[in-house]
Amino acid sequence: MQNNNDILVDVRHLKKYFPIKAGMFGREVGQVKAVDDVSFKIKRGTTMGLVGESGCGKTTVGKTLLRLYEKTDGEVYVNGKEIFTLDKKELRSQRHRIQIIFQDPYSSLSPRLPVGEIIGEAVKEHKLVPPDRCDEYVTKIMLACGLQEYHKDRYPHEFSGGQRQRICIARALALSPEFIVCDEPVSALDVSIQAQIINLLSDLQEEFGLTYLFISHDLSVVEHISDTVGVMYLGSLVEYADKKEIYSNPLHPYTKALFSAIPMPDPTLKMDRIVLEGSIPSPANPPLGCKFHTRCSECMHICSKEAPPVVDFNGHQVACHLYAKK
Ligand code: SF4
Repeated sequence: MQNNNDILVDVRHLKKYFPIKAGMFGREVGQVKAVDDVSFKIKRGTTMGLVGESGCGKTTVGKTLLRLYEKTDGEVYVNGKEIFTLDKKELRSQRHRIQIIFQDPYSSLSPRLPVGEIIGEAVKEHKLVPPDRCDEYVTKIMLACGLQEYHKDRYPHEFSGGQRQRICIARALALSPEFIVCDEPVSALDVSIQAQIINLLSDLQEEFGLTYLFISHDLSVVEHISDTVGVMYLGSLVEYADKKEIYSNPLHPYTKALFSAIPMPDPTLKMDRIVLEGSIPSPANPPLGCKFHTRCSECMHICSKEAPPVVDFNGHQVACHLYAKK
């Protein structure tokens, strides 16, 4: 049975709108609804994959969870604490518990600092270990991330893309986080290196009991690492389920189309690819009713009139009129 202590991250009706300003006085003339009423929970020590096409709002969800963006509405609980109610001092003391690993390991590391300092800088700032043990601690973290002690004195430009991502992971891990937002952490890497980084993240999760939100457009990678998966379209979560359930039985027409494009390992098998017509509408002016209705092959009369309710089949949630109870 699941109790509340099992849940590390609880997102309730999160909204993040960005203003569109125009004219000489920067008057607000509209809003980009990047995240529009998104709710989900992540169990402690598990990984939730968040997928969807570029621009669907998945990175904005990740950044808002870290309070890199202020929310427009909704609540975000991490470890039972609503992070948007924390004042500056509390936020500073909690900040190290939530970390992010970015897509681009080239631009997210300072080129002027040696690796040892990059990893140890925030450890010292947050006083996570006594000063005389910091060096030893940084070595331990580097070794756990597949780096060597002699790498401490080297600079980021001396490393390959995969090693730089290991440095980024070590920097996040050194802060003793509970929750890490992994924002497309392997998409800038060579395919041969991607598996190594994914395996490293899995090993660290097991060793340190980490919880991940894994944001990616690569459905094969998400299938490999996730326990649960959420699918976003135009700022909304359209489907959410256990990984095995959603990959074997996708319900939402958008999820079906996305998953139909996953390459088959056996080239002799025929792919029944569902091609999505048209492009994603603007989040500044999303379609009325179901936001997907302009591209959905199963669109019904009601779809352009009313937003679909979320229907729950034993934890498999889908927002689509096809499944709404009559
Ligand atoms: Fe398609 Fe209608 Fe379902 Fe939207 S609600 S996904 S338009 S069938």
